[in-house]
Amino acid sequence: MGAPEAVNDLYRELLPLGREGVVQAGEELWQEGAKGETVVLLVEGTFEILQSSPTGEPVVLRMARAGDVLGEMACLDGGARSAGLRAATDCRIRTIGAKQFLDFIRDRPDLMGELFRIESQRIRSLSRMVTQSQHRAITDRLTSLYNYGFFIERLDLELDRAVQMRDAVSVVLFDIDHFKAYNDTHGHPAGNVVLVQVSDLLRGTARRGDIVARFGGEEFVILLYGASLKEALQVAETARARIEAMDFAGGETQPLGRVTISGGVACFPGDARGSTDLLKAADVRLYRAKAEGRNRVDSGGVAA
Ligand code: GH3
Ligand code: MG
Ligand code: MG
Repeated sequence: MGAPEAVNDLYRELLPLGREGVVQAGEELWQEGAKGETVVLLVEGTFEILQSSPTGEPVVLRMARAGDVLGEMACLDGGARSAGLRAATDCRIRTIGAKQFLDFIRDRPDLMGELFRIESQRIRSLSRMVTQSQHRAITDRLTSLYNYGFFIERLDLELDRAVQMRDAVSVVLFDIDHFKAYNDTHGHPAGNVVLVQVSDLLRGTARRGDIVARFGGEEFVILLYGASLKEALQVAETARARIEAMDFAGGETQPLGRVTISGGVACFPGDARGSTDLLKAADVRLYRAKAEGRNRVDSGGVAA
C-alpha cells in the first residue's frame, strides 16, 4: 500500500518533518495518561484508540487509519494523552517531536484552521458516542423503557426531592398475568412482542414526566412524582383497562381469555419513608391483586 488517498492538508504538510518508524501489530505506541511528546502520522496500517473503562478492560474508542494525524492534542495543550494507541496491524508511522510540531504550525494559520476542524470533528463524534452509550446504559434493549438500574437511581433522587418539597411520590408495580402460559403456548418470541406492546401502552398511559421502567422479566414500574395514591391508582387503572381492551395475538388462549396485567400502587410518604419499603409496599399489593384473581390493581383499599 502506498500513500493514503484521503489525506488532509495537515498530514500532507507535516509528513516531511517526520522521522520514519515501524510499529508491530499488538504493540502499544503510548498509553492513556502518558506525556504528549510526539505527534504521529499514520502512513500505513491501523491503530486502535483505547480508553480505560471502569472494569479495567480498555474500550476501543475508534480505529485510526492511514492518513490520520494522532496525538496532536496532548502536544498542543502540553497535557497527557487522553487515550492509548495500540497497533491493530503492522504500521508505518512518521513521528514529529512536540516542539518541532508547535514551531511549525505556529506560523501557519491555515494549518491551525485545519487542526481546529479535525478537533471539532473528534469532539462532536465523541460526544455523540457518550450520549449513545449513556442511553444504552439506562434503557432496556427489548422494550426501550428505562431499565431497573436507572429506575432505582431516579427513585432515590425523587424521594430526596420530595422530602425537600414536601411532595408525594407514587409507584405502580405491574406484572403480566399468566405470562408463563403465554410463552409456553405461543413461544418466547411472541412473548417478546407482548412485552413490547405492553411497554408501549404503559408509556402512552403515563403522564408527562413519569418514569416508566422495565423492572424485571415481565414486570414494569411507573414512578409518578407528585401523584397521590388516588391519582396513581387512576393512572394504573387506566393502564390495566387499556391492556385488557387490547387485542394481543393469541390472547384468547390465556387462562383469563385475554392478556391482562395486575398492579400494586404505593405512595410516599403515607405508605413508606424510603425507596426499598415503598417498592415493598407496592409489591405486597401486587401480590394481593394476583391472589384476588388478577387483572386488577390494588392500592391498599383506597378507591379510585
Ligand atoms: P402470574 O400471573 O402469577 O404473574 O404468572 P406468570 O406466569 O406471569 O408468572 P411467572 O413468574 O411464573 O412467569 C413469568 C414468565 O415470564 C416466565 C418467563 O419465561 C417469562 N419471561 C420473563 N422475561 C421474559 C422475556 O424477556 N421474554 C419472554 N418472552 N418471556 C419472559
Ligand atoms: Mg413476575
Ligand atoms: Mg406474571
